[in-house]
Amino acid sequence: MSTHDHGTPYVETHVGETATPFTHHTSPDGETVTVQGICPRCQGPTASPHAYGLPGTGTKGIFSRRAATPAPTPATTLESVLLQETHYCECGHPHPQLPADVGFVGCGASWTVTDLQAGTP
Ligand SMILES: [Zn+2]
Ligand SMILES: [Zn+2]
Repeated sequence: MSTHDHGTPYVETHVGETATPFTHHTSPDGETVTVQGICPRCQGPTASPHAYGLPGTGTKGIFSRRAATPAPTPATTLESVLLQETHYCECGHPHPQLPADVGFVGCGASWTVTDLQAGTP
């Protein structure tokens, strides 16, 4: 077991690819997929929801944080999209020096995932 380091100061850091295992869970209504795992920087448990499409547009497969992303082709899997996403620490702990206007409450780390599995509900 890893221990969440609450004392890690907030720094916006891209740690690159991480081999930390992550899982993804689609919500019962099918509108969001949550990627969860352990932050590779502060070791806190983090879960990042990604919305499918935009409400009312009828489009699918566009993630809210990358509005310019073209809709995936049928050959594109959920995993392949999520493996290209940048994930942000959302451990929920206000790390020291957390900016007041920050979008994600966490340690400021971002990363890409290399080990992604479908989570069990
Ligand atoms: Zn973190
Ligand atoms: Zn943390």
